[in-house]
Amino acid sequence: MTSAWEEIDEWGPEKVLQVYDPDTGMKGVLVIDNTSKGPGKGGIRFAPSVTPLEVFRLARTMTWKCAASGLPFGGAKGGIIADPNKVDRVSWMKSFAKMIRPYCPSQYIAATDVGTTELDMAIFAHEIGDMRACTGKPSELGGIPHELGTTGYGVSVALQTAFDILKELKLIQLSKSQTRVVIQGFGNVGSFAARFLDQNGIKVVGVSDVSGFIYSKDKNGLNIPKLMKDMKGKAKLSDLKDYEYDLRDKDEIFEIDLDIFIPAAMGGVINNKTAPKLLGNGVKMVVEAANIPTTVDACEYLYKNKIWVIPDFLANAGGVIGSFVEYQGRTEKEAFDLIEYKITKNIKEVLTEAIMKEENPRKIATELSEQIVYRAMLLRKGAISVAREAYDRKDKISL
Ligand code: GLU
Repeated sequence: MTSAWEEIDEWGPEKVLQVYDPDTGMKGVLVIDNTSKGPGKGGIRFAPSVTPLEVFRLARTMTWKCAASGLPFGGAKGGIIADPNKVDRVSWMKSFAKMIRPYCPSQYIAATDVGTTELDMAIFAHEIGDMRACTGKPSELGGIPHELGTTGYGVSVALQTAFDILKELKLIQLSKSQTRVVIQGFGNVGSFAARFLDQNGIKVVGVSDVSGFIYSKDKNGLNIPKLMKDMKGKAKLSDLKDYEYDLRDKDEIFEIDLDIFIPAAMGGVINNKTAPKLLGNGVKMVVEAANIPTTVDACEYLYKNKIWVIPDFLANAGGVIGSFVEYQGRTEKEAFDLIEYKITKNIKEVLTEAIMKEENPRKIATELSEQIVYRAMLLRKGAISVAREAYDRKDKISL
């Protein structure tokens, strides 16, 4: 099994737990990356492809995400290794909760992620015996479920904020109504991003999932409200094969002309093979709705070719910002308001600095988060005066 320990650096991870329950067969991983700002926050991913290394990378993304969003949380992530539809998901979820109970919620506060839903959070919180053990719970339990579209809403805010800045500075020459957006992934994040963009007059011309790709050449793009209605009660896009959609192979998403690409599914999908294709097809901006969808090399390649990649831990922070509002016992409306406020502010700050300094926005955003976590780590050590002076981002980070 790939080891997360190889990745140890000055930030973490603080704990890597691999658990196995012989009674249910459940295998899981918990990585608590950094808790200097508060309990590690992050969802539980339930998928056969989960590895300790992937969970570590996702936990690190949460460390930067919570810091960049100014939340009193550190970074962590859970992973259960199986297809949730092929195992007894209730007993596996209970079993995972039982195994990691000593850390919840003092060091780890869970939430939903790929493969988990608000119902899993209800099971998790009850098994831990503490409603504060996770967020993204059903509204009946005082939760603000991520199924309300908090992450997708944040992605649409990120895209529009970045678009407006780049347009004002003449770094992209497109009108909003001409812009063609393509979204990979039509689950809880991609479908809501499509809906909110459509509501704001930005046309979505293609969406894909594991089963296929739906594309529209119509000058108005896809009819998103209709697509969402047609998808009711269906699990995947290929279930629409008897409808009037232009349903193609899922990989054709990398073969069509577009302006903005939103990866909203799994990690590593923009890589050495696909990045040149996106470039050739006219992409001008990538908004990372999924976690770690772009490899390091591909991100540099796109930047060098003047394609703006809006980093995941800024663009998809809507979910965890909503989680924070739930944690505070506030309302759904307050969650959406705070998401809009924080994401707009972050994208403006990072993108403007990246343009001014001629640097990749990911580099600027990472430095910003590092600085915040660095100060929190100094405070944890009791070095308050050093922490208060450590405002210069060029500070050498040695702890
Ligand atoms: N799974 C979401 C993410 O990756 C939400 C995490 C959370 O709310 O803790 O950002």
